[in-house]
Amino acid sequence: MDPLVPHAARIRRATEKLDLGGLIRPNSANVDFALTKLEHRGQGLCWCEDYPGPLHWDPEREQNEGHVRIVSTSEPGWSMTYECECTICGRVFDVEQGDHHFTWWRWRPRGVKRGT
Ligand SMILES: [Zn+2]
Repeated sequence: MDPLVPHAARIRRATEKLDLGGLIRPNSANVDFALTKLEHRGQGLCWCEDYPGPLHWDPEREQNEGHVRIVSTSEPGWSMTYECECTICGRVFDVEQGDHHFTWWRWRPRGVKRGT
């Protein structure tokens, strides 16, 4: 486990009161993103918990960042599917790519332990 996980709550308390101002707001957002990942892991969850729901997770981009591995895809095209595996917890997702004004991806976890 990440050694920072037990400290996530304390780091958040220590940083949320800081007035980081406009100049380094991007840094603040990065801290928040990192803390959210840590909190998920501290709760026994993985960041891939965030994939179902929003439609902006591009499987290719996630693979390039090392977050998932694309196991297989259908015939490439605008409307296609991906089979992705989380590189952290190994959960497998069926990802449907669609195109309606913009390209979107719908992630469906396969074999989740909790209810649908
Ligand atoms: Zn995962």
